[in-house]
Parts: sequence; structure tokens; C-alpha cells
Amino acid sequence: MSDKSAELSYEHWKNLAANITFRNQAFINGTFTPASGETYDVINPSTENVLASVTACTDADVDSAVAFARESFESGVWSDQSPSDRKAVIIKLAQLILDNKEELAVLESLNMGKPVMEALNIDMQGASAILAWYGEAADKLYDEVAPTGVDSVATITREPIGVVGVVVPWNFPLDLAIWKLGPALAAGNSVIVKPAEQSPHSVLRLAELAIEAGLPKGVFNVVPGFGHVAGKALGIHPDVDVMTFTGSTAVGKQFLNYSGESNMKPVWLETGGKSPNLVFADCDNLDKAADCAAAGIFFNQGEVCSANSRLLVEDSIVDEFVAKMVERADNVKIGDPLDPHTTMGPIVSRRQCDRIRAYIKTGRNEGAKLQSGGNSVTVGNSSLYVEPTIFVEVNNQMTIAREEIFGPVLSVIPFKSEEEAIVIANDTPFGLAASVWTDNLSRAHRVARKLKAGTVSVNTIDALSPMTPFGGYKQSGIGRDLSIHAFDKFTQMKTTWIQLA
Ligand code: NAD
Repeated sequence: MSDKSAELSYEHWKNLAANITFRNQAFINGTFTPASGETYDVINPSTENVLASVTACTDADVDSAVAFARESFESGVWSDQSPSDRKAVIIKLAQLILDNKEELAVLESLNMGKPVMEALNIDMQGASAILAWYGEAADKLYDEVAPTGVDSVATITREPIGVVGVVVPWNFPLDLAIWKLGPALAAGNSVIVKPAEQSPHSVLRLAELAIEAGLPKGVFNVVPGFGHVAGKALGIHPDVDVMTFTGSTAVGKQFLNYSGESNMKPVWLETGGKSPNLVFADCDNLDKAADCAAAGIFFNQGEVCSANSRLLVEDSIVDEFVAKMVERADNVKIGDPLDPHTTMGPIVSRRQCDRIRAYIKTGRNEGAKLQSGGNSVTVGNSSLYVEPTIFVEVNNQMTIAREEIFGPVLSVIPFKSEEEAIVIANDTPFGLAASVWTDNLSRAHRVARKLKAGTVSVNTIDALSPMTPFGGYKQSGIGRDLSIHAFDKFTQMKTTWIQLA
């Protein structure tokens, strides 16, 4: 936390929220437009009141955004700019995020309930850093010359793929859009983003900032609205060249169908998770492990795809470790997300909150023991808060250990041996992330190698950086976000063979 942001008071944030301007319309071809005029209400989960009425894009609106994106792409106004020029614009946009970070943090907090200080210090810093990283990468990627012999020259070049469709969820509204936008724009594509219906405002503001940064109109469009309408229209559109999605596994599968039913566009998916966190008795620093395990399930109200929702603990230390976890759950401060002292805000929506409560009930009914939390909490007018919840005596076949809850609910599962821990960890349809706590170097390598997950963190939690790929095995996704590898999703590979005379 920066010194300045540490001084920001509750009053400061409330004033900012009371005076904030919402961008409520679609952003197509460089301007806000009511599009075909349909709207829907965005709810503030910390009050359960209507926050704003926002354009609900229709098929025709998506057609229009795709047409402008196509026109901008084919004109070369961005796709043919030199990588160094693209870099300058993207880096300027990264700076504009920092310049406007308080406003963007408030929008995020009002839309989906995350504590504003986390939005400020984690989401906005992350969004800017990742965008800057891709801006920097733009003019550092070299193409290849194949080893053909002296009678010919064959180059293997990367070209932008064209019109990119992006559909993202509500848990990190700006960051997850930027995970796609960064490499897509750096590579020279034109992009259309469909934000989650719950949280369109930060991405709409970003689109406006992108014009200020110098991005040509039509290159970055935003079509707010419902998944089954605007999201589907993008997924099934014959003139969208590639689809990239973050969200639930069920909807991810629908995007594969949309592609099959339309133009066979590549579909890149970042979907659900049920990540295991393995704590071995030979871990020296159990306090640090417990701090991280608590952050791994309670941060962002547990609404994190890679949340470490299954805590696998060696049976000789299970009681000691659970006591540490309960202590940490008790220290979570539930409250208004605009209060800088709050560490857990409301759940994003009534629907998601009811879903979490239903899972807590199922956990009890199936015989798991509720060790801590489990209750609903009302703050002000909103009853969308759920206590940090810890179940013990969970076995891996119970519903709460198998299905993604997407809330602050932890299942503690004891294990007796390294082999058993690996079997339990991998016994899931998901494979997004895993963590391991041990001070035995050989075990760390051995277990990391056996875990079927896109990211394995050892003696830390949820390791994430612009430099390393992020994505899942099994039903946690197809492809990887972040790192240089993300460019694979947004470029075509071309072979040019020149026969020499
Ligand atoms: P969701 O799948 O319901 O919605 C995600 C997006 O898809 C939204 O923009 C929504 O409008 C759109 N959508 C919904 N139905 C659609 C349809 N029929 N056709 C086209 N688009 C449609 O997910 P959510 O509830 O918003 O987010 C939670 C999910 O996201 C969790 O499963 C979580 O694991 C996942 N997630 C994954 C990652 C990751 O990187 N792997 C990151 C964050 C969230």
C-alpha cells in the first residue's frame, strides 16, 4: 500500500462514490452510443440498490461493433502501425490507468463489492503493470528464418489475427479484460469486449481512456449486456476471428459450440477451478502457510478462479493448522467495501450469494463439520455478505469438495501420505492452480511435477506475474493468458517461401 493511499479515509471514498460518473452506453467506433436503446439495471451489491441503467447490446449492436472493428483492422490504422508506435500508445494507456486509479477502483468496488483498497492496490496496479508489460513486449518479438539451404529463403512471421472477441466475468472486471487486451492490442488486432453484466463500468471507462492514449477509433469497442445475447452474438459471429473467454466452465463449453456452429474460430478459455493447497507436516513456517491459505480462499470474497478452496493437510498437524485458519477467519473484517479497513465485501449478486449459501447447507447435509462461519451477515441495507467459512472432516467426494463454490468457503481434507495427497489433489475435473507447503526440496519438486495444474506454487500461494503463463489443465481451460505465450492466441503464423533464382 502506498503511503498516500494508506491515508485515504472512508469519507474520501464515499465522496468519490457519491460524485462518480458512470459510462452507461456501448462504446463503438470511438464513441459512446445508446446502440439500439435497450437497457438493464446494474445493482450495487453493498446496498442492493440500482447503481446505473446500462445499454444491453443486441445482436445488431454486436454486428455494428464487429463491422467497425473489421474496418479499423483492414484499414491498417493500428494493425499496420509499427510495433514501437503501438508500444507508445499502450504504455500511455497503462499510465492513464494509474492516473485514474481511484476512480477506476471505486467503479470496481461499486459494481462487484470488492474492498476499494484492494481494487486500488491490487487490481489497478496489476492492470497497469500487465498492460505496460505487453506494450514493452510489442517491439521485442522477432520472427524466424527457417534453415532451408542456399536456394531459398523461408520466413515464419506472426501477423495479427484480425477481430478479437473478449468475454469476461465480474470478479476482476478490469484486470481480466486487460489480460486479453494487452497481447491482442500489442499484436495489432482490433478488439470487442463484452464485460460481465454485473460490472461493465471500469472497462467502459478504459475504452474512453484508450482514445485519450491515442488508440485509433474502432480498435477497442465495448458491448455491455447479457451473456446469452451479446456474449453469444460475439461467440457465434462469422466475422470474429478469435474468441477469448474467462468465466465458468459451462459457458466456456458453449463458446466451443458457437465456434463449431459458425466459422470455426479458435476459442481460448480460462474457466473454473477447485484448487488444492497441500500442507505437509515438514513445512517449517505454518503461520506463513496459514496466512497464505486464508488469503487464498478469503481474498476477493473467495470469488477467485484459482482460489485454494481445498486445503489438504497432513493428519499429524491438522488440528494445529485448522486452529490457525480459524484465527485468521476471525480476523477478516466484513464491511462496506468503501471503508478502507474492510477486508471482505459483499458477494457480487443475490444469485451468487444464494448459490454460496446453498453450498454451505449441502456441506452440512453431506456430513462435513462446520468449524467456523457459515452465516449470512447484513451490513447497512445489504444482506449479501457471507462469513468466511471453514468446513473440516471433508472428504473429496462431497459436493463442496468437487464443485466450484466461488465464495469464501474452505474445505479441509486430511491426508496421511504424499501419495494420498497427490491422488486427492488430482481427483477433480479442474486443474487451474495448486499450492504446496514443504521444506523438503525433493518433495517440493516431486509433488509439483505430479500435480495436474497450470500453476503450482511452492511455499507461496497463487503465484501470478505478467512473466508467467496462467491457465488450466482439464476443464479449467484451453490456452494460457499472460506471458509471451499469450501472443500465440492473437497471432497467425505465416510461412513465406522464396525460391531464389
Ligand atoms: P459466467 O460464465 O456466468 O460469465 C462469464 C461471462 O460470460 C460474462 O460476461 C457473461 O455475460 C458471459 N456469458 C454468460 N452466459 C453466456 C452465454 N450463454 N453465451 C455467451 N456468453 C455468456 O461466469 P461468472 O459467473 O461471471 O464468473 C465466475 C466464473 O468465472 C467462475 O467459474 C470462475 O472460475 C471463472 N473465472 C475463471 C478465471 C480464470 O482465469 N480461469 C478467472 C476468473 C473467473
